[in-house]
Amino acid sequence: MNIISNIKTSGCETAPVLRERGQREVFCGLTSIVWLHRKIQDAFFLVVGSRTCAHLVQSAAGVMIFAEPRFATAIIDERDLAGLADIDDELDRVVNRLLERRPEIKMLFLVGSCPSEVIKLDLKRAAARLNREHLPKVRVLNYSGSGIETTFTQGEDACLATLAEDLPVASGKANLLIAGALPDAVEDQFKRLFKDMGIECSFLPGRRANDMPAVGPNTVFLMAQPFLGDTARVLKERGANALLAPFPFGAEGTTLWLKAAADHFGVSDAVFEKATEAPRKRAEMAMASFQKSLGGKSIFFFPDSQLEVPLARFAARELSMQLVEVGTPYLHTQHMAHELALLPAGTMLSEGQDVDKQLDRCRAARPDITVCGLGLANPLEAEGLTTKWAIELVFSPIHGYEQAGDLAGLFARPISRAERLAV
Ligand code: SF4
Repeated sequence: MNIISNIKTSGCETAPVLRERGQREVFCGLTSIVWLHRKIQDAFFLVVGSRTCAHLVQSAAGVMIFAEPRFATAIIDERDLAGLADIDDELDRVVNRLLERRPEIKMLFLVGSCPSEVIKLDLKRAAARLNREHLPKVRVLNYSGSGIETTFTQGEDACLATLAEDLPVASGKANLLIAGALPDAVEDQFKRLFKDMGIECSFLPGRRANDMPAVGPNTVFLMAQPFLGDTARVLKERGANALLAPFPFGAEGTTLWLKAAADHFGVSDAVFEKATEAPRKRAEMAMASFQKSLGGKSIFFFPDSQLEVPLARFAARELSMQLVEVGTPYLHTQHMAHELALLPAGTMLSEGQDVDKQLDRCRAARPDITVCGLGLANPLEAEGLTTKWAIELVFSPIHGYEQAGDLAGLFARPISRAERLAV
């Protein structure tokens, strides 16, 4: 099995990391509602926030034209502490009206935000109060998507951590839990691969409120997303054990991720090979067509999603791209250990952000492609740099073998478009 035996482990595990704490340019955790509301089909996300929050969620998720939306914002206007009791009443009224009108809602998330009036509110208490009224018909949970506490993918982490606290207790049987919201098609692919190895798995989040996985001391979990620090902590508190591995991006990452579970469950090499050989070859073939156009091209990652380190590993090792700087909002050294080991030695790693300094480094390097937030993409494009929106890499199906070619294509297309324009 060439892909595993070829691995070098002399990467960046102990490499110095530039830590910056300055002005940041990144979306807040409310953004993750855009993909979470599609994932849990009978959940509703009620943002408790300001008009700014409503505007962000509406414009980021402005795709729900035909369906009745499964998110909304309860707008809390300026109020002093004396007005807080009224807010509780008002919130209860909004929730009661919503649940009356939408009986299909089985799970309601109260999502906190950062206006000071909201910070003063105790949403945990509000959720407990509403549960007394609405359980078992509707489960009310709360988490924060505030821009003070979360970047955009951390909204998912906060949501899943809350869900993880609430999961049913697993029976004694050993079970595998995949943590992280994935498109249904990707989930089905992983499910089939594990099934071919004789492993049953469940996913967090489940697709419906009453279809959430169980967790207990015989649960092992694999993270499908690298930004789930809090979720992992809660799962461990519930007795589950983490399987650490590279993340399932590209043929190599996917193989190593699957192998971590296969080894834990005692799957033989022959069975593993039989289950993975064909899709792995398909992934390698799909990527081959992009390797020519991407090999040797330089890439710069601004810190947005925490996907940067795994994607950089994929770009360097499977597409032969050159890493100029790999920025990440937060570097979880334990969860990233396998990824860091695979990065080319000497990779420039940065954590946090001082956006002006980072922009200066990017401009000086003039990379062939820059992965960054929407706010930086337009100015950089205007300066002649080619960009890819970090958020697109979170929205798009990019995990697993069958998506490896599409992932390479996400980097290749902007570069070839820029090259065509330059001719
Ligand atoms: Fe803005 Fe904070 Fe609302 Fe996010 S949570 S939209 S950062 S006010």
